[in-house]
Amino acid sequence: MTDIAAPALTRSIVTEIPGPNSRALLERKAAAVPQGIPHQLPVFIAEAHDAIITDVDGNRFIDLGCGIGVTTVGHTNDAVVEAVREQVGKLTHSLFGTTPYEPYVRVAEYLAKHTPGDHAKKSFFVNSGSEAVENGVKIARKFTGRRAVAVVEHGYHGRTNLTMTMNYKPAPYATGMGPLASDIFHAPGSYPLQDGLSGAEAAERTQYYLDKHVGVSDLACLVIEPIQGEGGFIVPADGYLPAMQEWCTANGVVMIADEVQSGIARTGRTFASEHFGWVPDLVLSAKGIAGGMPLAGVTGRAEIMDSVHTGGIGGTFGGNPVSCAAAVAVFEQIESADLNGEAQRVERVMRPLLDGLAERHPEIIEVRGKGAMLAIEFIDPESGAPIPTAPISAAAGKEGVLVLTAGTDYNVLRFLPSLAITDDQIRDAVEVIGRAIAEVTGD
Ligand SMILES: *Cc1c(COP(=O)(O)O)cnc(C)c1O
Repeated sequence: MTDIAAPALTRSIVTEIPGPNSRALLERKAAAVPQGIPHQLPVFIAEAHDAIITDVDGNRFIDLGCGIGVTTVGHTNDAVVEAVREQVGKLTHSLFGTTPYEPYVRVAEYLAKHTPGDHAKKSFFVNSGSEAVENGVKIARKFTGRRAVAVVEHGYHGRTNLTMTMNYKPAPYATGMGPLASDIFHAPGSYPLQDGLSGAEAAERTQYYLDKHVGVSDLACLVIEPIQGEGGFIVPADGYLPAMQEWCTANGVVMIADEVQSGIARTGRTFASEHFGWVPDLVLSAKGIAGGMPLAGVTGRAEIMDSVHTGGIGGTFGGNPVSCAAAVAVFEQIESADLNGEAQRVERVMRPLLDGLAERHPEIIEVRGKGAMLAIEFIDPESGAPIPTAPISAAAGKEGVLVLTAGTDYNVLRFLPSLAITDDQIRDAVEVIGRAIAEVTGD
């Protein structure tokens, strides 16, 4: 443990939420930051360690969000902090495209080793998940010489012009901010709870759609999250992803795994694609890859990655040395500290507790996900209408548990705890959530 954030193992609410210091900062935020930048919990964070975040009024929260699955190894993870401290005193920037440095190559080697499949792979780095998606699409277009990009319903890929067009929901990500990118096609995917289809049936439906709406000879790539994040942790039916990969390979289409949220030991495998026996052509990483530092990676078959001419990809900050040093510390822990085992432990402890909630609350129609990427979906059993989960999240926040919402219909609670969360913290957090559900639904 480092002493910058002493171990604070329990949640502890000592003021009203938000407390006076947070309220003062919220006023400054309202005056200085546009309203388009929201906050889910109205508190300002002063420091954090492992699974506990502490606000500027001294309230401690159990963090089930990890900044959307970013601090998977834990807030201020000791090895990440140490790696950052060491690197920041040596080299903070040189631009890899002008004068390269070793940590960048090292992270590329780790990605080659840990992404699915044992074919030759290459990687390069950018700054955000959106940028990784943008680059995956650019490379697929260059490699295939084709124009069209396919995604599936309920997907989320980012906030740039291209990626906001690739999202299933225009609102809030693109509303009023067009024109959108062209040649993006939204095909039906696999959402077993809603479509009841087997993996093979869902794949046939996707293929039929793409055949009719695009025509495979114009299709450059199909981009899919192996477990959909913002869509509500939708786990596709078994066989769906490998069937789509087989179809893509047969038709010269590059299939891209958007593992920005599901990757890096989040689901009990280093990449969620592995759960489904899927070996994608390209794999996109971001969020958890550098333990809280900004970094995103594009990894793919060497022949696809090398199809881009010199200077056709890159950027000023991409693969920053400090971020790369942090990512090395993350991969070292995947190899030495059994992070995937820790994600499996989180599921082992948490899923039965969530199943228990579902037994008590008929509105919870599904508990799903894998590893430390779990979710519950709420539907009114009488009307069949989705029940928005924001009030449940707000009620849990007041008791010291930060939990994020998700879902196309805003009716999912998603759990993305750090792998440093203890069994007791999981039990305590789920109890709080149970009370919040009872308070909001009245049963
Ligand atoms: C968060 C996310 C993105 C976008 O990443 P940013 O770093 O926010 O640009 C893309 N794809 C998926 C699956 C994500 O969860």
